[in-house]
Amino acid sequence: MIFGENGALRVMVAVSARGLMKAVSNRVGRWRRQIGGIVQRWWPRQCVLCASTRHPEGLCAGCRRDLPMCLSACPRCALPGTGGETCGRCLKRPPAFDGTTALFSYDYPVDRLIQRLKYASDFGVADALAQYVVGAVARPSVDVIVPVPLHPARLAERGFNQAVEIARPLAQAWEIALVTRGVARLRRTDDQVGLALSARRKNLRHAFSCEAKLDGARVLIIDDVMTTGATLDALALCLKRAGAASVCNLVIARTPLR
Ligand SMILES: [Zn+2]
Ligand SMILES: [Zn+2]
Repeated sequence: MIFGENGALRVMVAVSARGLMKAVSNRVGRWRRQIGGIVQRWWPRQCVLCASTRHPEGLCAGCRRDLPMCLSACPRCALPGTGGETCGRCLKRPPAFDGTTALFSYDYPVDRLIQRLKYASDFGVADALAQYVVGAVARPSVDVIVPVPLHPARLAERGFNQAVEIARPLAQAWEIALVTRGVARLRRTDDQVGLALSARRKNLRHAFSCEAKLDGARVLIIDDVMTTGATLDALALCLKRAGAASVCNLVIARTPLR
């Protein structure tokens, strides 16, 4: 296609106007999410599940009792139902991480809560889940907390990283340093649905980079959901290569192997 000088100019103006509109809409979206987050955090707290009011911890006692706990799990990968023993998969091919704590199995209503956090920017859910963790889990003996980083494209799309939103109040409550800089996701790894575990692992090789100084540090990785564990395995390997002495995971929910 040939454009005259004016035609070419019009195309350039149209392209840059589209870019500007996209940048403005991204910025407005980010402000909206930030303001929404501030309002949610300071408004009188309701239970995030049944909406009964005056629950400063974000989850009422009745709803807490009904949550699907992740029980008798493998200490290494939190696979439920192993009677607390190390599962066959971890024995056969030990992952790079040293242990995993999963609070819940990824079932109703925890799945809905996590989806509300991720897709509806409901930061009250992150706070409620973090408060639950602080009440249920002893302060871990670690030096730093590393939330699983999102790929920059995904972060730009969503405007926040749900793992950071959960990790920040935990780091504050436990007074543990939070590392969000220097650990990066280099490859989009969220399109792995349908891949076998070995294919996922291959796809995840070199998915992360770490420039943070972790010499001898005991690291706790935080994430919202653990599926096969391949992502956490790849991140743990990367952190150990960066000098971490030990790497454990704390995840809100664990999907059973299907
Ligand atoms: Zn409730
Ligand atoms: Zn296991």
